[in-house]
Amino acid sequence: MSEYKIRFHHGLCIGFFEGKGYSREFTENMTAVREMLDLENPEIEITLNSDIICQKCSNLKDGICRSNGKVSRYDRKVMELCGISDGERIKWNDFQKKVRERIISVGKLCEVCSDCQWLYICEKKGTC
Ligand code: SF4
Repeated sequence: MSEYKIRFHHGLCIGFFEGKGYSREFTENMTAVREMLDLENPEIEITLNSDIICQKCSNLKDGICRSNGKVSRYDRKVMELCGISDGERIKWNDFQKKVRERIISVGKLCEVCSDCQWLYICEKKGTC
């Protein structure tokens, strides 16, 4: 089992992250996780559940995101577009490549997360 769980839609969030987030603890963790992933390219487990980003998020309550209805929809759309199963293990760079090729480069970002509060950041870099 991989020690790094990443939920599906965080394949987008991590790539577009530019230092903004829910709290200082959240952004520090997000920064550290992104640096680690880019440096080490570890095998990760892609999940529909909470992950190593959620662990430092103020929206996580009893292991479940307070916005779970919405974010689960994002996760399932990324799962469908990338053709990856829940619990599948894959190298971080390979996951990023799929996210880029099957979502960002083909203008499908807004098919995933058109009602996300952070979309204004990602829209500048990815096509909707
Ligand atoms: S707990 Fe929810 S809002 Fe926080 S990082 Fe996880 S999915 Fe995003």
